[in-house]
Amino acid sequence: MSNFDYDLFVIGAGSGGVRASRIASQLGARVAVAEDRYLGGTCVNVGCVPKKLFVYGSHFSEDFEAAAGFGWQVPQPHFDWPTLRDRKTREIERLNGIYGSILANAGVELIEGRAEITGAHSVKVGDRSFTSERILIATGGWPFVPDFAGAEHVITSNEAFYLEEFPKRVIVVGGGYIAVEFAGIFNGLGAESHLYYRGPLFLRGFDAGVRKVVADEMEKKGVNLHFDTSVAQIERLPSGELEVTDTQGRTRVVDAVMYATGRRAKTDGLGLENTAVKLRENGAVMVGDNFQTGEPSIFAIGDVIGRIELTPVALAEGMALAHYLFGDRPNAAVDYDNIPTAVFSQPNIATVGLTEEQARERYPQLQVYQSSFTHMKHTLSGLDEKTFMKLLVDGVTEKVVGCHMVGSDAGEIIQGIGIAIKAGATKQDFDNTIGIHPTAAEEFVTMR
Ligand code: FAD
Ligand code: NDP
Repeated sequence: MSNFDYDLFVIGAGSGGVRASRIASQLGARVAVAEDRYLGGTCVNVGCVPKKLFVYGSHFSEDFEAAAGFGWQVPQPHFDWPTLRDRKTREIERLNGIYGSILANAGVELIEGRAEITGAHSVKVGDRSFTSERILIATGGWPFVPDFAGAEHVITSNEAFYLEEFPKRVIVVGGGYIAVEFAGIFNGLGAESHLYYRGPLFLRGFDAGVRKVVADEMEKKGVNLHFDTSVAQIERLPSGELEVTDTQGRTRVVDAVMYATGRRAKTDGLGLENTAVKLRENGAVMVGDNFQTGEPSIFAIGDVIGRIELTPVALAEGMALAHYLFGDRPNAAVDYDNIPTAVFSQPNIATVGLTEEQARERYPQLQVYQSSFTHMKHTLSGLDEKTFMKLLVDGVTEKVVGCHMVGSDAGEIIQGIGIAIKAGATKQDFDNTIGIHPTAAEEFVTMR
């Protein structure tokens, strides 16, 4: 046994930190994890989980509308924000407890408080000091808000989950996952919802067809999309409302402005100056092979390394690192190819593999199979929503190299397709698969 207090000291009990500590402990390591805010990290507290609950909640407005087409007479529905907000919060508190039990059952010592690294093998939490053979930075990220006149008036997704009052009119600034998801949430829950994005079309990095379809569908549902629009300044009026002026001098008065302009690695106050850990230009912790930082005893995983900011990626990194450090894996490599992902916009987006633009560059003989149709539910619902699907196939090997969908339950459907693509499925394999009828998903095996 070493002379250190622990074999592994993890900073941050979020997705990556909890997974790494639990597995390391199960592999026999003496592990502590420090957490200064909430067990489960961003995903459980102010990310995936409450977001998805809000998406479910906001979809009801459309479901009530659709019900009439099936013969249901629904009295004028009324939405009560405190009910959704507080029931969500209670569910999260339940999950916080579960995370506590997971750590305790795995034999991980939980140290509550803000951790500061004081040396290559030492950490301070409040007035307690600890030593550890290895330290793992799993401190995640924090919303980034650019500097401009009136920036102090805006909220981020962190606050949106706990708003005292639900805004009647809201502007969401940004064009990534969070902006698109929240513009839909606010709209579905009854707010006049505006999305301001600085470029010509949001969701940069996604397949161009997907981006266009989502923009059309969101507009049909009532979200006001303002592309090529940037905020110049925000002023609080005596009434408490916010007057937002864009760079072209146009103004709009709203009750809330939510910035979703990306997240930055959370390293402030972490004591990295006491170590040889280096940061990249964007503030992310720089790691080499096996998630090792410039300080050989210090490792980093998850959002703080700024590779792919998704919970399942942080989990995979935590798992790989624990097995490498304390199990029998020769390295901690994670395969970042073909990671499926979903945006819980309304309708949902889900995707795995290359976009058509990327695939065209890589595969000159690319075959594109595409379909846009009305979901069976909407033949009676009266709602005008299109489902969009695209399969990209390398004409030489016949392998499916990309798959994209916009439509209800896209995330549920693409998870399965992700396995097929990971396994190297060809278009012929898709064609040989018998569909499940009647579903939207069967379209993926009947595209010719
Ligand atoms: P985190 O989960 O952020 O955990 C870091 C932890 O470290 C935090 O608990 C923090 O309090 C703690 N900490 C920080 N500094 C210290 C310190 N000095 N001492 C002690 N503790 C410290 N991903 C998906 O895959 N699907 C989704 O649907 C999804 N939705 C999202 C929605 C929103 C609104 C947001 C913001 C994110 C969403 N994400 C989603 C991304 C996902 O939440 C992150 O990728 C994931 O949480 C990263 O895990 P992590 O362990 O790296 O960091
Ligand atoms: P993203 O990086 O996805 O998007 C940031 C957006 O903000 C982009 O549209 C970007 O524009 C814009 N932007 C950046 N800087 C500025 C600026 N100074 N002024 C105006 N606009 C700006 O970040 P998010 O905050 O949406 O989410 C963070 C990450 O969390 C996501 O990337 C994702 O990995 C994860 N997440 C995952 C979810 C899921 O899995 N469903 C849901 C929510 C979050 P441009 O494109 O022009 O650079």
